[in-house]
Amino acid sequence: MAEGTFLHADLDSFYASVAQRDDPSLRGRPVVVGGGIVLAASYEAKACGVRTAMSGRIARRLCPDLVEVPATFTAYVEASRAVFEVFRDITPVVEGISIDEAFLDVGGLARLSGAPSRIGAELRRRVKAEVGLPISVGIASSKFLAKVASAASKPDGLLSVPVGGELDFLHPLPIEALWGVGKVTSVRLHDRGIATVGALARLSPETLTSIVGPASGRHLHALSHGLDPRRVETGRRRRSIGAQRAIGRGRHTGEELDATLVSLVDRVTRRMRSGERIGRTFVLRLRFDDMTRVTRSRTVRRATAGTDAWLVAGRALLDEAMPLIVDRGVTLIGISITGLDEAEDEQLELPFDTDAPTRLDGALDAVRDKFGSTAVTRAVLLGRSEGFSAPQLDSH
Ligand SMILES: [Mg+2]
Repeated sequence: MAEGTFLHADLDSFYASVAQRDDPSLRGRPVVVGGGIVLAASYEAKACGVRTAMSGRIARRLCPDLVEVPATFTAYVEASRAVFEVFRDITPVVEGISIDEAFLDVGGLARLSGAPSRIGAELRRRVKAEVGLPISVGIASSKFLAKVASAASKPDGLLSVPVGGELDFLHPLPIEALWGVGKVTSVRLHDRGIATVGALARLSPETLTSIVGPASGRHLHALSHGLDPRRVETGRRRRSIGAQRAIGRGRHTGEELDATLVSLVDRVTRRMRSGERIGRTFVLRLRFDDMTRVTRSRTVRRATAGTDAWLVAGRALLDEAMPLIVDRGVTLIGISITGLDEAEDEQLELPFDTDAPTRLDGALDAVRDKFGSTAVTRAVLLGRSEGFSAPQLDSH
């Protein structure tokens, strides 16, 4: 059956999942983030009835084993950035809604990456492997339905509403599933015996308007018939492009670290070239066994999108950081290239001798676009599957 092309991707219990990711002793236990007021609750805590925005006192009463942890906003920002890098690696058409959710339109990708539900499954696999967090994905023919579908799929799920099956999915749901049905509207509708989206859809626009007012009436009438014409809005152009990879605890050989760096540089520069961007500064981010982090950067003389130029910069930074890596043990390598500019600026000052590697990069990109990203692999990566990254952060 045909699928919609709108994806809504939403991290599950984001703050609490980060806490459980970073402290294995919290996994499988009811965890809330925040003391006075619950900012986020793990699914174990939700199972006891704990909810976001509840007071900590009530939460403790509901759940005697509750573990309360403080918020760690720098970790949330870092995780969010990494998740959005995965989104943007999948499609350039990404609209961020908040720190932990976004709409993606994968309409243009069908030939390259397969059906939307396959793309959604791949997104979930990558966020789990590369960032260590569970994420739910809803797929539908409109943004509104995709968001309802992701909520219905939670936790850690994927739900695709087939084209033509929108109303079968939507009509049994409670009216509170509709955007714009707050407390007041909900009470007014329930007073008239209207509890489901289907019952609301059967009202004439005039009757609905007489209950909830003209603006809300038009809006709810359209939504209840599955009508939501909004597109995915991508906003302004980005100033940096990055990628990261968790490599698990334990010792890593220099070759492993280098192969990870090479694949990250390859991925990021490929995205720069496909977006016709060039960059000026290479940023290397490392996370260590003890959860400390360092950032190192290097700026090149001439902006470029060439893989080899950035690999030189990245290797130099990695070498410089080697004493720290040996000392503390590295668990995550991230890179980003910043100071982005439009690629047309490069052409003017590009000397002939550096043209060759850029042309080679372009040729590799073309083959991958046609045959998939594993069709051509730089020599250092041979023998490693895409899943090489994957000592996962989560052990369950
Ligand atoms: Mg969320």
